[in-house]
Amino acid sequence: MKSYLVTGGAGFIGSNFVTYLLESQPDCRVVNLDKLTYAAIPSNLDEANENPNYHFVEGDICNQGLVEYLFDAFDFDGVYHLAAESHVDNSINGPRIFIKTNIEGTFNLLDVARGKWMEEPGKYRPACKGRRFLYVSTDEVYGSLGDEGLFTETTPFAPNSPYSASKAAGDMLARSYHETFGMDVVVTNCSNNYGPRQHVENLIPLIIARALGEEPIPIFGDGRYIRDWLYVRDHCRAIELVFEKGRAGESYNVGGRNERENLWIVETICDLLQEMKPLQSDKIARYQDLITFVKDRPGHDRRYAIDATKLEQELGWRAEENLETGLRKTVEWYVHRWNEGRYPGLS
Ligand code: NAD
Repeated sequence: MKSYLVTGGAGFIGSNFVTYLLESQPDCRVVNLDKLTYAAIPSNLDEANENPNYHFVEGDICNQGLVEYLFDAFDFDGVYHLAAESHVDNSINGPRIFIKTNIEGTFNLLDVARGKWMEEPGKYRPACKGRRFLYVSTDEVYGSLGDEGLFTETTPFAPNSPYSASKAAGDMLARSYHETFGMDVVVTNCSNNYGPRQHVENLIPLIIARALGEEPIPIFGDGRYIRDWLYVRDHCRAIELVFEKGRAGESYNVGGRNERENLWIVETICDLLQEMKPLQSDKIARYQDLITFVKDRPGHDRRYAIDATKLEQELGWRAEENLETGLRKTVEWYVHRWNEGRYPGLS
């Protein structure tokens, strides 16, 4: 039985990934190490909790003793490292914890894995051959784009927020463990994810919650920011594929070729809500009437867009959802949760 450490598995992507991995590899063991910060949504793991191959450990990735203990107790064949402080706005208001978790935490995991798996630089312990560490990073390490062009794996790093700078440091550490110690490390750099199980602090669940609650829907600046959106399950498939088949020491961009302005996103969600939960209000005529433009955040990246050709051509990955199909599934999921009183981050 393969044994995997997943960090941050109570968060948005982590909980989708844990659920996906247990489905995709029914006879693997998954240990989820999560500190349960405000961003964690324990009910995201209701399905996983019923699986005897799933183990939850509450703890900090920066805790060396705990991570060493887990490596000894569960003899991991691989690490999927997703835990992070992930919200750009929070990194502007309080960057310190981003440096601690995203840099020191990533270092701690890499270094414990090296110590447990390797005898010396370039030499794995015989029982540990083939063990791999995957670091889940972001396209935000590349900075911002103008109207044209796409980020490729060779685009120079130019992070613009403390969040993206701390993630970029993780990419660099991961690279150095491959280059210096010969550790088997792979990295994914993914665009904006959306889908079920995301905390209400993020754009899409926030739009839906505000609309359903008939409260103002805040949109930064002029709403013309462009993001390249990927349905979270497509990201989970990419993470598993890169872990299974990616080349050691390489990074792979993950994106669905779904560039859209924030304004399009909010208007489309309002249309879907009107169809799924028709507005019954004496205050407003349409959900769209709630859209409110608010002061921009400092250092706001104008456009991100990913070129995922390497992942597509080398490993045969393709996004299964486009933004239209994925958003419909997503809005359905949140409306359902709203009706049940179990909205992520609100209850
Ligand atoms: P999230 O904020 O929803 O979840 C992060 C999880 O990590 C939470 O459960 C939290 O409790 C846990 N955590 C935080 N600090 C910890 C610590 N010190 N020790 C243990 N656990 C800790 O984040 P997400 O959106 O699911 O992102 C997951 C990963 O994917 C992050 O590394 C992020 O940088 C990356 N990523 C996210 C996106 C996106 O669109 N959300 C896109 C590309 C890459």
